[in-house]
Amino acid sequence: MTDRLTSAASAPAVDLPQSRYLATAVPGPRSVALHRERQAQVSGGFGIVLPVFVEQADRGILQDVDGNRLIDFASGIAVTSIGASHPRVRERVAAQLEKFTHTCFMVTEYESFTRVARWLNEHTPGDFEKRTALFSTGAEAVENAVKIARSATGRGKVLVFDEAYHGRSLLTMAMTAKENPYRLNFGPFPAEVVRAVSANPLRPVAAQHDAGAVASAADVATAALASVEATLAEHGAQNFAAMVIEPIQGEGGFVVPAPGFLAGLRDLADRYGIVLVIDEIQAGMGRTGTLFASEHEGIAGDITLTAKALAGGLPLSAVTGRAELMDAVHAGGLGGTYAGNPLACEAALAVFEAFEDGCLLANARAIEAAAREVLEPLVSETDSVAEFRGRGAMLALEFADRGTLAPRADLAKEVSARCHAQGVLTLTCGTYGNVIRLLPPLVIGLDLFADGLQVLRQAILDVTAEDSVAAARSLTAEHSAASEHSVTAVSPSLG
Ligand SMILES: *Cc1c(COP(=O)(O)O)cnc(C)c1O
Repeated sequence: MTDRLTSAASAPAVDLPQSRYLATAVPGPRSVALHRERQAQVSGGFGIVLPVFVEQADRGILQDVDGNRLIDFASGIAVTSIGASHPRVRERVAAQLEKFTHTCFMVTEYESFTRVARWLNEHTPGDFEKRTALFSTGAEAVENAVKIARSATGRGKVLVFDEAYHGRSLLTMAMTAKENPYRLNFGPFPAEVVRAVSANPLRPVAAQHDAGAVASAADVATAALASVEATLAEHGAQNFAAMVIEPIQGEGGFVVPAPGFLAGLRDLADRYGIVLVIDEIQAGMGRTGTLFASEHEGIAGDITLTAKALAGGLPLSAVTGRAELMDAVHAGGLGGTYAGNPLACEAALAVFEAFEDGCLLANARAIEAAAREVLEPLVSETDSVAEFRGRGAMLALEFADRGTLAPRADLAKEVSARCHAQGVLTLTCGTYGNVIRLLPPLVIGLDLFADGLQVLRQAILDVTAEDSVAAARSLTAEHSAASEHSVTAVSPSLG
């Protein structure tokens, strides 16, 4: 036993140089060949951000099969917050692997499941007695929160919001807002899912009625809440089991709701006896500089959902909520073959240990400060960066034309492509696909992060400048076409 632990702990550590390095074009020839084989074998239903095959990953670096070292601004979509090869995760999982891989927690028990539950009960927002149920994926956590809320309230409806993302299973697809790619061709969807407006400070749907007036953040929240209450009334507030919201919307565009909106939802939930479910699957587990993003607004869900960064890259999700809700479900009503797999539970315990000294949360805040300094000036320096937003290491830039706010997905896509070509792995998101989001691992070195930020900043300056020139040219062309009374007057040199 001791021998095994020792050998597991002394297995060669992944220790990649924390610097960007391009040995080939990105993707390189070996990745291109492997991707060709993938296309022959894997369902075309899977998309791909960057067709590069990873060989090793360590802190802020992904090393590919061609020897390129890419800066990781994605963390596998907010999963590998403590890195993709954290020593504690490797040690704990390796040690568990020596003992057993699975029993099924519904058949025979193991202690790590209870210990993960206990940590979540103690650390999630809310000063009340809690219980936790573990599952494998985020979508499963969302589905089970709905099951629990229905069982506890005897009601059926679920309130969700504009720009929401809750997963790809049938119910969570219905709860997700964006059509393409998430919902397209996959209906019909489960009934009883009702959508309300969100409080997006840049695009305040509900406040638009006050024509001309620039809505303050408080106005945005107040107007959105009035609209939410109207939606509840329309469908009968007493019919709602749950309202489910992300404290910062992830796939929907890293939208930080106007201050006061989440607290207002908390009040509405209390007033109408609706279970407030806070989906912290992307924003939680330290991502925003606090353990949970709802802490920034001083609110607690009756149920809090975690997944993604919960287990250092192993599949694990959790529903943590008021004891009386969680225990309202009949025995045998919750579960799943792999729910709370022992390897994943050990990985989660390693993640909790990694958060103990507070350094990771400080890192998230340092990441925000560094990014803000380099990226926020782009809002005034360019014509098409509409906003820099986010919290901690969950940050985004939205591309839209100045004045009209017409979304510019083309710019986000081109900037991303240039970052990828230079070895910086960025992701896009947003209802209009016009947002570049930053989700670096919390363990990224600040020098490496700064290098990635400069690549991103330069790509934005270049792409937006080229766009302004192109726009000016087409204006000139229109002007000369108009003045010559000819629609074919665009000279090739202007094209
Ligand atoms: C990713 C995500 C989910 C779904 O998690 P999966 O593990 O992909 O099923 C749900 N909610 C939010 C906010 C997410 O970001």
